[in-house]
Amino acid sequence: MTDPSPSLATPYRTHTCGQLRAADAGSDARLSGWVHRRRDYGSLIFIDLRDRHGITQVVVDGEDAPPEVLEAASRVRPEFVISVLGEVAARLAGTENAKLPTGDIELRATELTILSEAKTPPFYINEPDAPVDESVRLKYRYLDIRREPMQRNLLLRSRMVQAIREVHHAHGFLEIETPTLIKSTPEGARDFIVPSRLQPGSVYALPQSPQQLKQLLMVGGIDRYFQIARCYRDEDLRGDRQPEFTQLDLEMSFVDEASVMGFVEAMAIEVSWATVPDRPILQTPFPIVTFEETLERFGSDKPDVRFGMELVDLAPALVGADGAPASGFGVFDSALAVGGRVKAIVAPGMAGVTRREIDELTGRARRFGAKGLAHLALAAGGEIKGPITKFLSDDTQRALIERSGAAEGDLILIVADDADTTAEVLGRLRVELGARLGLADPNVLAYVWVHRFPMYQWDTDNKRWDATHNPFSDVLPEDEALLVTTSGDPARPAPDDPAGRARALQYDLALNGWELGGGSIRIHRRELLERSFLLQGQTIEAMREKFGAVLEAFEYGAPPHGGIALGIDRWAALLADQTNIREVMAFPKTQSGSDLMLEAPSAPEPSQYEELGLRFVGVPEKRS
Ligand code: ASP
Repeated sequence: MTDPSPSLATPYRTHTCGQLRAADAGSDARLSGWVHRRRDYGSLIFIDLRDRHGITQVVVDGEDAPPEVLEAASRVRPEFVISVLGEVAARLAGTENAKLPTGDIELRATELTILSEAKTPPFYINEPDAPVDESVRLKYRYLDIRREPMQRNLLLRSRMVQAIREVHHAHGFLEIETPTLIKSTPEGARDFIVPSRLQPGSVYALPQSPQQLKQLLMVGGIDRYFQIARCYRDEDLRGDRQPEFTQLDLEMSFVDEASVMGFVEAMAIEVSWATVPDRPILQTPFPIVTFEETLERFGSDKPDVRFGMELVDLAPALVGADGAPASGFGVFDSALAVGGRVKAIVAPGMAGVTRREIDELTGRARRFGAKGLAHLALAAGGEIKGPITKFLSDDTQRALIERSGAAEGDLILIVADDADTTAEVLGRLRVELGARLGLADPNVLAYVWVHRFPMYQWDTDNKRWDATHNPFSDVLPEDEALLVTTSGDPARPAPDDPAGRARALQYDLALNGWELGGGSIRIHRRELLERSFLLQGQTIEAMREKFGAVLEAFEYGAPPHGGIALGIDRWAALLADQTNIREVMAFPKTQSGSDLMLEAPSAPEPSQYEELGLRFVGVPEKRS
């Protein structure tokens, strides 16, 4: 079958470089593209001609091609852009190339024009596996984009975004663009600001998300909105973060939590199928776990559910009949005595671990925040090994093994600490060991919902309740009565307030251990929103200043509404099986926020200072 895109024909080409097949033999064709490879045998020159659709072999045969064509062909070098007219010919039997879809034919050149010459590129374009320093790739991103991996990733991303648009339109959503020169819409990061020329001394903020605007669209009666939205957050960059990134942002009116989750789930399934039809989705409907449950079982609020190795609570094996700690091992007993946890994960088949490996695992556990890492190995034949055996009675050892579910040949890794540290350390060790032992099927897509997050967490420094997620999130109806302080004044929050126990109507979607995004049902009553903001330490004046439009809009009839935002870059990276979002972004920035190709950021022109009424008072110390 030939490429179903006849509209790609232009004066420069009748076909793309991936289009011609045996059935085209005998006809004339014109192709244009980049010289992928050239093999020169003097009076016979082969050129592999490439565009983003594929590669076609061009033959310039001195026997029948005009001399100027042979001469031009001998001048071309890799990455020259050329246009070739010729006759499509079946390749001689035995010289077909089964690896190329066009491998049954070749184009016998009768005309060859050099459209553009090329210097020798700083790295091989035609060897996708050759290692290239990332900073060189980013400086010459346009060359990197010619290479097969980037072509594949950008194509996948485009297909994914197309599917997202199609599914939303099919479900009655309007695609609406919200402005990017706005007032701060905080999402917990610093704003990027843009000084105003027309109003010197004032700045716009670039949106951290379209949160307030999409809620105002709901008040405006747009009952289903979505946008492929660019968002900006000025924070220190980590592996899967960029200062500007893209979200699928959506909001719906007259919905409850189940309505939003239901739509998003159906959409995510359709988008996955359309983008990577070969990758199975582990479980539908997606599993839903509460925040508490996911911390208990996986030690993470973005659990990778492709494999087990769940955290086990060892306490029942360590207490006496009266419920008091009685293992005889001080580290365990004292952790339990102060309300801490003793939990474990079981690494299958790792009983034979060496001293060095244990030291290395312990080092990691310490870096993750643990004071130490205990272990027990269940050797073949049932022998229990490990330095802590000398502290534990045989009965306790057996109870502990049984409780952990370990089988012969397994290694039990144990952390005794406060609840948060135990979860964090074992959760991270679980992910690392899961990867090391190859427990997670890389092909499978495991989506999972996490909900019932705490509404707030206590901010000791600022003495206020910070929203754990979105400051606009609504509270679970049965927890609404908890949105109070012990002092009775919501403006005077304290760490023992009932508000600390309230759960939000907040839901996150995780995929293969990454947080894909999150959303919530929003508070749509002004009075409740003001109360929640007070608990979050906002004064009435600050609220008016920051969220005045939303608060006022809520006095003109706001529908119940909720939504979500999913990270497009992360989602594309996961579907493309990449571990870094830069691999699915055309022009990403480095860890220090630089665009190495455009050399941004850069100093403004002196005239710009003047126009904007700006003066730089000094250059802050360079970060290393
Ligand atoms: N605005 C939120 C965010 O960017 C998502 C949402 O609640 O819709 O994370």
